Amino acid sequence: MQNRPVVLFLIFSIPLLLAGTCRQPPPAPPDAGLYHTNDEIIDELRRLQSQFPDIAHVTELGESLEGRKIMAIKISGSPGTEEEEPEVIFVGGHHAREWISVDVPFLLAKRLLKNYATDAATRSLVDGGSIWIIPLLNPDGHQYSVDSNRLWRKNRRNNGDGTFGVDLNRNYSFQWGGPGSSGDTFSETYRGPQAFSEPETRILRDLVAAHNFQAIISYHSYSQLVLFPWGYTRSPAPDAVLLQQLATSIADSIFSIHRQRYTPEQSSDLYVASGDATDWLYGNARVPSFTIELRPGSSSPGFILPESEIQPTFEENLPAALFLIKWTQTLGQTTITM
Ligand SMILES: [Zn+2]
Repeated sequence: MQNRPVVLFLIFSIPLLLAGTCRQPPPAPPDAGLYHTNDEIIDELRRLQSQFPDIAHVTELGESLEGRKIMAIKISGSPGTEEEEPEVIFVGGHHAREWISVDVPFLLAKRLLKNYATDAATRSLVDGGSIWIIPLLNPDGHQYSVDSNRLWRKNRRNNGDGTFGVDLNRNYSFQWGGPGSSGDTFSETYRGPQAFSEPETRILRDLVAAHNFQAIISYHSYSQLVLFPWGYTRSPAPDAVLLQQLATSIADSIFSIHRQRYTPEQSSDLYVASGDATDWLYGNARVPSFTIELRPGSSSPGFILPESEIQPTFEENLPAALFLIKWTQTLGQTTITM
């Protein structure tokens, strides 16, 4: 009996001894699972550049409000030099919670690079122009969505009144301040104190000013739509017929893969919105501009698209992106008057 305290001590020591010998790694920082965070996008883009140095060039376009790098990858036959050639741009991640809108353009970059050596059609598109891809324009909001509030939408501007965030897709200068945007800092569609008040939208503005883009796709989620200008008014755009034709071709390409219907329509048919990226690009430079609202089609699961749908969403959007790239390199030269 007198040994009992020793026995008990040994028994109760076992978990402590085990804990001491099998050290657990510190808990991993929150991540987005199979979806990519900004840190992961930066690493992956750099890896792609080192894997495909002849056709990929990664650029730090600038920094977000909180100092995160906003990256672009340029894919081209000669990515380090500026040439007179058709340029097209794909942008994701304006809205923080729309994680799929980041992974689709990222996977597009990866696929173009990986297929270049073996697929003649890909090689022809890459050699025939410059393809710019910005997977994540709003890294601060996205990280906040990963860490703290999955349904965060805006960037992380401290508005100085206890509220945070500007809706980047209401902060562009064309028709800034119009209907479908809010002057209320608390609002999910707060447009900011002035057009281009946010570093993230200025980054896209400055990139566009330095190039001659002939088409853009801005990825969002959700609803399965292919939207074209105008967003600020229900009136048709001057090139409404062409825009409708292109949007229909994009939607048909998407449908051909997994039979998912994305509806082509004028942006304001969904709801009126002023100061968005596509109205700005089309309004300022008459560039055919499309917002693709990715999967899912409805509010269930809404923004929380299961990881298992990343790949099929990318797969169905691939031929649509390729179609638009090809259009800028062929038909685009002859059918649009600027
Ligand atoms: Zn969005």
